[in-house]
Amino acid sequence: PGNDLVNSMALHGRHIKPQILADLNGDNWHLEDYIKRGGYEAVRKILTTGMTQEEVIAEVKASGLRGRGGAGFPTGLKWSFMPRSFPGQKYIVCNSDEGEPGTFKDRDILRFNPHAVIEGMIIAGFAMGVSVGYNYIHGEIFEIYQRFEQALEEARAAGFLGANILGTDFSFQLHAHHGYGAYVCGEETGLLESLEGKKGQPRFKPPFPASFGLYGKPTTINNTETFAAVPWIIRNGGQAYAEVGIPNNGGTKLFSITGDVERPGTYEIPLGTPFSTLLELAGGMRNGANLKAVIPGGSSAPVIPGNIMMDLTMDYDSISKAGSMLGSGAVIVMDDTRCMVKSLLRLSYFYYEESCGQCTPCREGTGWLYRIVNRIEHGQGRQEDLDMLDTVAGNIMGRTICALGDAAAMPVRGFLKHYRDEFAHHIEHKKCVVAPYK
Ligand code: SF4
Repeated sequence: PGNDLVNSMALHGRHIKPQILADLNGDNWHLEDYIKRGGYEAVRKILTTGMTQEEVIAEVKASGLRGRGGAGFPTGLKWSFMPRSFPGQKYIVCNSDEGEPGTFKDRDILRFNPHAVIEGMIIAGFAMGVSVGYNYIHGEIFEIYQRFEQALEEARAAGFLGANILGTDFSFQLHAHHGYGAYVCGEETGLLESLEGKKGQPRFKPPFPASFGLYGKPTTINNTETFAAVPWIIRNGGQAYAEVGIPNNGGTKLFSITGDVERPGTYEIPLGTPFSTLLELAGGMRNGANLKAVIPGGSSAPVIPGNIMMDLTMDYDSISKAGSMLGSGAVIVMDDTRCMVKSLLRLSYFYYEESCGQCTPCREGTGWLYRIVNRIEHGQGRQEDLDMLDTVAGNIMGRTICALGDAAAMPVRGFLKHYRDEFAHHIEHKKCVVAPYK
């Protein structure tokens, strides 16, 4: 409920069908439905036509698929880092620990199309010569974890998972694991620690998971959406995938759109689609309000004023040129009744609450950021606080073990860059520039 699955759209004179969310109605997630949609054809193709591991990786490289978890790293290249000749156990891990405010696309993939993730992981296992995989699912969506377990059972019963898949000598075991809702377990080494049964605190790097991952073995970690995109690529070819979208930004991408829009939900659109089109798909601004600002890629992405955003396209390059990030694709839309101080206060509290406390700049800095914004919000701020916010953010960035520190600092700098006057007004008048705010 509350999710609009866009089944097709006309764009740039082309009729483009989604690749992950196509033809879903909420009930047709079972194996038999997935097979009717062409599911497991890609596994059959690689296992029965003699495709080599190198050919599978070459297709993924040709597709231009970039990691959908936030970093946007080329997937085929990442797969090629897995040491082929390593003699012991290797692993692949799916990162479904989606916990960033505003992000729920992976939840919807696992809810509506779990077999796409399973098939993508089987293909990845074949390509990298890995026989065991895990899907780490965020702990606050327990019913989704249960559904994924059901989908795994279906795949095992049909012979797509386990020993000698489709009668070949390729075997692949896939297990689901649920966390307990800690945001930091979405950081890949925190996830691995948690998966091993330890406290989910990120590791120092190097070594990186490609050489020292789960149980100290070579491990490749990809996001849920990344794996879900792979079956389409193998069925249709990497080139066909790359052609949907724009150069360096191939394929479709799922966006979780929330905030002041008429129809919040998950939308799958080609990368390079204008933001204005996405907003239109989401029903436009709620009650016809004016667009004030957009956080384009999850809560850690710096905010972009609405007038700038309306000229951007939804792809990695366009958003980063505007000083923000496409990130996980969580688009938070704010109308002109939104108070930027209060918005930042909520975000700052989130990072302060979720810091694992392992390194000082993050543990102490997130607390400082939260407390300073809190006193501005409550009429006790000083004009010097604005520079202090910037200084504290600067002392966190680049000085922490994992990216949570940067993720806490970047929104602060984004809000100050574009809405400093609003913060100064709060301090001077001890009230909000937009009144009454929601
Ligand atoms: Fe923990 Fe924050 Fe350091 Fe990451 S940056 S390891 S969350 S204290």
